[in-house]
Amino acid sequence: MSETLHRPAPAPHAETVPHGLATPAYVYDLALVRSAHQRLRAWLPEPSELYYSLKANPHPDVVAALHALGCRAEVSSPGELDAALTAGVPARDILYTGPGKRDEDLHKALTAGVRDFAVDSAFGIGQLDRAAARHGVHVTYLLRVNPGGGSRGAGLRMTGDPSAFGADAQDIAAHPGRYTGGEHARIDGLHLYLATNITDEQALGDSFSEAVAVARTLREALGVPLRTIDLGGGFGAPYARAGDLPDYPGLADRLAGELDEALPGWRHNAPTVAFESGRYLTATCGQLLTRVLDVKDSHGQRVVVLDTGINHLGGMAGLRRVPPLHPDVVRPATDSAPTADAAEPPGPAMICGPLCTPLDTWARSHPLPAVAPGDLLAVPNTGAYGLHASLVLFLGHPAPLEVVTDSGRVLRSDRMTFVRRPADS
Ligand SMILES: *Cc1c(COP(=O)(O)O)cnc(C)c1O
Repeated sequence: MSETLHRPAPAPHAETVPHGLATPAYVYDLALVRSAHQRLRAWLPEPSELYYSLKANPHPDVVAALHALGCRAEVSSPGELDAALTAGVPARDILYTGPGKRDEDLHKALTAGVRDFAVDSAFGIGQLDRAAARHGVHVTYLLRVNPGGGSRGAGLRMTGDPSAFGADAQDIAAHPGRYTGGEHARIDGLHLYLATNITDEQALGDSFSEAVAVARTLREALGVPLRTIDLGGGFGAPYARAGDLPDYPGLADRLAGELDEALPGWRHNAPTVAFESGRYLTATCGQLLTRVLDVKDSHGQRVVVLDTGINHLGGMAGLRRVPPLHPDVVRPATDSAPTADAAEPPGPAMICGPLCTPLDTWARSHPLPAVAPGDLLAVPNTGAYGLHASLVLFLGHPAPLEVVTDSGRVLRSDRMTFVRRPADS
């Protein structure tokens, strides 16, 4: 299915809604992906590589747009690997990560031609080495590091939080021989991923400073050449709320200075410095469109029931997990015919989805304009951790449409389906 707008392409703006769209629908605008990418690149020291973490949004068109801009793909499951390959990302541009990998996952990745992995333990290195040997190939890996509590500038601390992610920096420093690899899988560098969704420039800079300090210490301890230092990410973005991406105007200079000290040679890619982002690159490209199914008064509270809920957005919040979700539900600028009185000021409403569970509640009391059944509403900034972080199978509603636009022009519109098949097929 494809449709064209019956009006000139408007300037990129997430509130642009394709005309007459079935709901619920996620709309991802590629022009907004490109502008977010351009913005993020401006905050990063040069030269550096940037990985797009498919976890945030593995839609192939989004992945393809970012790959066309030079992003490599960070995948951590067979499904994300398929998404990257479907998007046209060549295997050489894929980094396969994740704290637990089945042998068949590695087999699939190696068969596809992936040669760069991240590993989280000494066992993971052996597993990868054996898998590469079975394939008769040589691969490299980034060793993910769990730095332990705050090692900023002062060597490695003994204490830290237990985690599935990474090998303890302390253990790497004490037993470097366990971590440099075997005959078929050799260490290529370090993978540090210390933070997520930090909007404050100082705090984000501090997190990278810690990563740089750990990398410097471990580089010396490991005593083998490291070609890549992946400093991870942590770039913030609004989630299901109105708002803009944060700016980090001083970050590149601060980091460049610290890298000159800690990893001289980085300016000539010795080592190559890499960063990762999911949400910064994609959060603002997306909006979730929904229609009002019912409005009623319940014990003095206005209750609004939508045609989408935690099955399509915020499943993690629905399970009382992070992040808590209090989405802004707004009337899109292009919705010309609201049936309720649009002049009425927003008032509090309980905002529910259609699922038969009280968990399907986005907000118990949230400002919402006057709405009536049939009205079109939008949740802004849902391009990251939207559909793919939700409970799509729960209660068996169809997956929402996913519509890809470019500056408002519809390029593609489809939906995922789930099919039961015999186990051996
Ligand atoms: C989740 C994840 C990311 C992306 O995080 P964002 O907050 O979306 O930028 C990057 N790298 C790793 C290793 C991750 O697990």
